Amino acid sequence: QFYTEDMGAGAMERLQLESHLRHALARGELAVHFQPQCRADGSVAGAEALLRWNSPRFGMVPPVRFIPIAERSGLIVEIGEWVLREACRQGQRWRNGPAPEFRVAVNLSVAQFRQADLVARVADILAETGFPATALELEITESMLMEEVQSSLETLASLKALGCMLAIDDFGTGYSSLAYLKRFELDVLKIDKSFVDGLGNDGNDSAVVHAIVGMARSLGLAMVAEGVESHDQYDELVAFGGEDILLQGYLLGYPMPADELDHRLASPTG
Ligand code: C2E
Ligand code: CA
Ligand code: CA
Ligand code: CA
Repeated sequence: QFYTEDMGAGAMERLQLESHLRHALARGELAVHFQPQCRADGSVAGAEALLRWNSPRFGMVPPVRFIPIAERSGLIVEIGEWVLREACRQGQRWRNGPAPEFRVAVNLSVAQFRQADLVARVADILAETGFPATALELEITESMLMEEVQSSLETLASLKALGCMLAIDDFGTGYSSLAYLKRFELDVLKIDKSFVDGLGNDGNDSAVVHAIVGMARSLGLAMVAEGVESHDQYDELVAFGGEDILLQGYLLGYPMPADELDHRLASPTG
């Protein structure tokens, strides 16, 4: 049973979703899945943590439906912290086992980013799980940075002081001011799927991705390309990015439960 669009965008349905989401964490309906981020040779460097909600009432609810509801209701703060803890806990398990260099990327929501004690909470979770800050990549979006530039700069500086890596998610879909890339202390630029989509057949997208790669390099940023689905896209990204780019997408692996990634990491090809 899958949640479909037909069931709805209505206010009634949103309220129903919200009231169920309120108990989803306590009832064990939420899970963190992990999507591999791979090097050009196919080996797994790390994974992005992606939230899943399997509701007994609504079935599998996609994040695009429930994350905005979680954001608006404030539930995202508690849920997001749980995702972070789960991601660090699993990540440390992989570092202690098959993948000593394993890193995890976790999405931060606006509400979390604006939390006064965000940095202390991240520090607590790192201490609790033993996961090193340098292996934790926090994904934020362009719009989050541009909303309140001064306080964003301060939050980023504190997260950097803690040792965390900072990634700009969905690059190219927001304000895309090149100036801010220099201004904020970012480490990783995630090339949005919308640009990757056209690689291999659309000359314009190739030119855009080539330009993004060149710019990221000159700013000393690492890159992750998201939404890699075809061999043509993979080949072109590797040709542009070489060792500086990680690849994430269905071609390399779907988001999967932790125990499935265990098997993947145990296999000789990683
Ligand atoms: P995102 O951060 O841009 O995550 C990438 C999305 O692209 C994921 O969708 C992933 O499953 C999907 N994806 C990856 N590779 C491919 C591909 O090759 N083809 C296609 N068609 N899709 C691909 P997902 O898991 O449905 O998540 C959607 C969005 O929900 C995420 O977009 C993120 O903004 C948000 N989200 C997910 N988990 C969390 C979370 O724990 N916290 C917060 N704040 N947001 C989250
Ligand atoms: Ca993301
Ligand atoms: Ca993304
Ligand atoms: Ca995206």
